[in-house]
Amino acid sequence: MSKATYDFSNRVALVTGGSRGIGKAIALQLAEFGADVAINFRNNADAASEVVNAIEQLGRNAIAIKANVADPDEVATMVNQVVERIGPIDFLVNNAGVFDVVPHTETSLELWNRTMSINVTGTYLCSWAVKDSMVERGFGRIVNLASIAGLEPKPYAIAYATSKSAIIGFTRSLGVALAEDGVRVNAIAPGLIKTDILDTADPELLEQLIELTPVKRIGSVDDITPIAMFMLSDHSDFMTGQTIVASGGRVTIP
Ligand code: NAP
Repeated sequence: MSKATYDFSNRVALVTGGSRGIGKAIALQLAEFGADVAINFRNNADAASEVVNAIEQLGRNAIAIKANVADPDEVATMVNQVVERIGPIDFLVNNAGVFDVVPHTETSLELWNRTMSINVTGTYLCSWAVKDSMVERGFGRIVNLASIAGLEPKPYAIAYATSKSAIIGFTRSLGVALAEDGVRVNAIAPGLIKTDILDTADPELLEQLIELTPVKRIGSVDDITPIAMFMLSDHSDFMTGQTIVASGGRVTIP
């Protein structure tokens, strides 16, 4: 199958949670299309430096920055470092996220606050740290990772589902708020995608979910990166505030 290609040379991207999974795949694809890429990670420095090496092998500038996206000071320092070392940020991919499968009886305030602070406040903080510069330059693209969990009931992931509904609402409102300034904001709502995030999920539950998926498979990161590239490219210039679902037919909203 031939893939769409884009020219992102002279663009600078920041991908949060770019050390693994979907974020890593997006970071590598951006570099293949010519962007310089900063990736952020929380703990896994080895995985992050592998991604940096792979990006440098493609002839692009790359840095990895350890920061908790839920911490305002760490986010501010991270964004300053990216700007100083590779330039003003054109593309922000708010991908860092955490996912816990737990029943309501185990959805503690601690788990709730941790999920909201990383998945929701982290997306807000990173967006706020880059948006004014984007507005000043009259150019910016933000892509947020939502989930189908934000669109349908997830009784075993109440905090996660709530956080992803918030991302869909955030995308909608920020997209419209920045529309006249040349800054577009969109989101991707994936279904089940094979990454480390599924490590804690019950294998039986995964089998059931595959059964419920019309295309009868788990998705791969390669099912998501083309959507991110399209959203970051000029080919989607008439689209902002929008969430696109990629779930093998499990959820078909809107
Ligand atoms: P993953 O493989 O678990 O990777 C998570 C990434 O986020 C890692 O790079 C991790 O860094 C980073 N991270 C976690 N907490 C962080 C924090 N507080 N600050 C900075 N970085 C942090 O996840 P994934 O499956 O690729 O998922 C990526 C995004 O897609 C998430 O927002 C997730 O909710 C969403 N999504 C995933 C699926 C799926 O089925 N996989 C479905 C729908 C939506 P370290 O390497 O340092 O730990």
